Amino acid sequence: MSDRLPGFSTLAVHAGAQPDPTTGARATPIYQTTSFVFNDADHAASLFGLQAFGNIYTRIGNPTNAVLEERVAALEGGTAALAVASGHAAQVVVLQQLLQPGDEFIAARKLYGGSINQFTHAFKSFGWNVVWADPDDIASFERAVTPRTKAIFIESIANPGGSITDIEAISTVARKAGVPLIVDNTLASPYLIRPIDHGADIVVHSLTKFLGGHGNSLGGIIVDAGTFDWSTGGKYPMLSEPRPEYHGIRLQETFGNFAFAIACRVLGLRDLGPALSPFNAFMILTGIETLPLRMQKHCDNAKAVAEFLAGHPAVASVNYAGLPSDKYNRLARKYAPKGAGAVFTFSLKGGYDAGVNLVSKLQLFSHLANVGDTRSLVIHPASTTHSQLDDASKIKSGAGPDVVRLSIGIEDKEDLIADLEQALGA
Ligand SMILES: *Cc1c(COP(=O)(O)O)cnc(C)c1O
Repeated sequence: MSDRLPGFSTLAVHAGAQPDPTTGARATPIYQTTSFVFNDADHAASLFGLQAFGNIYTRIGNPTNAVLEERVAALEGGTAALAVASGHAAQVVVLQQLLQPGDEFIAARKLYGGSINQFTHAFKSFGWNVVWADPDDIASFERAVTPRTKAIFIESIANPGGSITDIEAISTVARKAGVPLIVDNTLASPYLIRPIDHGADIVVHSLTKFLGGHGNSLGGIIVDAGTFDWSTGGKYPMLSEPRPEYHGIRLQETFGNFAFAIACRVLGLRDLGPALSPFNAFMILTGIETLPLRMQKHCDNAKAVAEFLAGHPAVASVNYAGLPSDKYNRLARKYAPKGAGAVFTFSLKGGYDAGVNLVSKLQLFSHLANVGDTRSLVIHPASTTHSQLDDASKIKSGAGPDVVRLSIGIEDKEDLIADLEQALGA
């Protein structure tokens, strides 16, 4: 073996996986088991006391899931990762390690609609208070910091508008405030953007989208960058204080630069319970093998479709950061030089009714609430994903009444353009 570091595509195929030691199976087996036999009583005791690493019960860890965790950690450049049942589960588990009731976290206003709901309603009932900031106005993050702030949460490429966030500028605010920066990297995937390279301390994903990539399995993951010092100022007691259930060990002291991933597993996943099925881990691992190929095609197709729409008379505007005229193009060239992703919005001159009409006339595009499938997808956010928001919040989050969102798949771009052309013309 040479000592060269493997490239991204090599990691996407190989990271974390070896031929199965007992059978020689080359693809990662699906370890469809709830529990694992201990060698003896001492082994069992050391696993439960966190003195040894190993498998106990699939709610806490599973060998198929472990390959997925190692692979995504390698692709993102983190120290460790934890796979969970969905992107939303990843967000709950992360914040449970950081916030006590009454604490605050700052979140970018431009987020996936489901995250806006989760932060506004479910998290409020836990006593975790979200404070919104505008990702286009970095000073609004600085102004939102208080002594109770425990984290900052942003998306790298923001849903639904496909805008690009200035990760480095916001990481500077987080560093000054002494809190970790959490980046939801779902729409970019590590193929386009690696947030840790730009100052993120924690990366979360909905694996359901581009990483799995085929619209067949839900999953989520948390990646620990290993960059944050959890011991300062007693702000993060879950990580810095003795854990009574583990013989009084302190996670930061014992596990160092992967203490956060361990906390998510042994305090979050263990007690909250959103474990990923090993079958889904297998499906997502298979998807990740082709991530670089798919992602490039998604981006190239998206750019072609955005250019077509920008020249169409029924279209009022196109928000795609990959277009030179777009207000996020400078940030796209800095953070995502291989492509600005495949999810973007455009608005129709005919407003709300034209949006509903377009969605009903498209044939190749599937009308559904998902992104990051091999298939091209369309949705009218104002009447669906963002319908729970009031009108002002809809517009602020990029989902006004005339806005249509596309997630461009990996079909032939000529076929996608022809479908849009017939639906817009009709
Ligand atoms: C889908 C999505 C989520 C939520 O993920 P689930 O797997 O559906 O729970 C979070 N963030 C973004 C950006 C998403 O697109």
